Amino acid sequence: MQVKKNDQVVVIAGNDRGKSGKILKTFPESNRIVVEGINFIKRHTRGTQTNPQGGIVEREGTLDASNVMVICSSCGEGVRTRSTELVGSDEKTRHVRACVRCGEMLGGEQ
Ligand SMILES: [Zn+2]
Repeated sequence: MQVKKNDQVVVIAGNDRGKSGKILKTFPESNRIVVEGINFIKRHTRGTQTNPQGGIVEREGTLDASNVMVICSSCGEGVRTRSTELVGSDEKTRHVRACVRCGEMLGGEQ
């Protein structure tokens, strides 16, 4: 996956196109993600202890990871990322993501 939990992303396809939010969850097996405030779906729930009435709740549904782009803090918009190698102080090579446009590292090991 190109994206990880806690990434700030912008939606590039679908009803929520142009909106941005933080990734709350990733499902690498299905290449799907949940983004804060994006793709709300209504779900009927049964009563629980905290919500004895049950009813309809709105919560974020999953969307395809290919429908979002990571926001580069330097460019200020959604960008494509590339993988780049970084040699740490322990001399281990790590793969990190970098902005294709400006080269800014976007953090997180791949
Ligand atoms: Zn950038």
